[in-house]
Amino acid sequence: MTAIEARDVALSFGSTPALRGASLSVDPGEIVAVMGPSGSGKSTLLHCLAGILVPDAGEIRLDGRRLDTMNEQERSVLRRDRFGFVFQFGQLVPELTAEENVALPLLLGGVRRTAAFQEARPWFERLGLAGLERRRSGELSGGQAQRVALARGLVARPSVLFADEPTGALDSLTGEQVMDLLVACAREQGTTVVLVTHEARVAAYADRQVIVRDGKVNALVRS
Ligand code: ADP
Ligand code: ADP
Repeated sequence: MTAIEARDVALSFGSTPALRGASLSVDPGEIVAVMGPSGSGKSTLLHCLAGILVPDAGEIRLDGRRLDTMNEQERSVLRRDRFGFVFQFGQLVPELTAEENVALPLLLGGVRRTAAFQEARPWFERLGLAGLERRRSGELSGGQAQRVALARGLVARPSVLFADEPTGALDSLTGEQVMDLLVACAREQGTTVVLVTHEARVAAYADRQVIVRDGKVNALVRS
C-alpha cells in the first residue's frame, strides 16, 4: 500500500490553476523529491498532500484512507498525529528556547511537559546541537535553526515528513549537512518524506525525483 497519494488532483486559486490533474504515489519509508520551476505547483501539491489545502477535484489518500473528504478538524488531528513539517522560513517560535520548539508538537499532542522535554533532549545530541537546548531560537544560526526545525518535524515520529525548501535559506555546505541528517533520521524511523526543492543537489538525496510542470507531475527520474 502507498503511504501517501495524490490522484488527479486539481486546485485553482481564483482563476489561477495551480494543480491540474497532479498524481503522485509515495511508498512507506520512501524519500521523494518534488522539483520543477517556480510557480509550477510544488508547494500547492505539498499542501494538498499534507491536508492543509483541500483540492477542488481528485483524491488524497494516507495509508489508503481518503484525506480530502475529511472535515477541517479531522485533517487537523491527522496533521498533528501523523505528519511532521519542515519549512524554509519562520518555522520556529523565536521567543521560545530550542528545546521548547522541539517539544512543541508533543505538547500540542497532549504529552506532559516532563515527558515532552525528555523526548526532545536526545535530538540535540543526535543533530550536533548539544549545549544549545536553552538558547532562544531567535539567537541560533541558520543551520542550527534548521536542525532544530528538523528535530521538531521528527520528534513526534510522524508517518510522513513534509519538507518545503528545507535548505533554501542555507549555504550549500550547511544545506548538505541538514539533508544528511534529514535522510539519516528519516531512514532510522522509517519516515516517508516528501521534499520540495529546486536544488538538484538537494533532490539527489531522495530515492526518487519527480518534476512538477504546469500543475502536473509529469516526469519521473529514478536516482
Ligand atoms: P511552486 O511551489 O512550484 O513555486 P506554488 O504551488 O506556490 O508553486 O504556486 C502555483 C501557482 O499557484 C502559482 O501560479 C502561484 O502564484 C499560485 N498560488 C499559489 N498559492 C496561491 C495563493 N495562496 N493565492 C493565489 N495564488 C496562489
Ligand atoms: P514557494 O515557491 O515555496 O511556493 P512562494 O514564495 O511561491 O514560495 O509562496 C509563498 C507563499 O505565498 C505560499 O504559502 C503560497 O501559497 C503563497 N502564494 C504564492 N503565490 C501567491 C499569489 N499569487 N497570491 C497569493 N499568495 C501566493
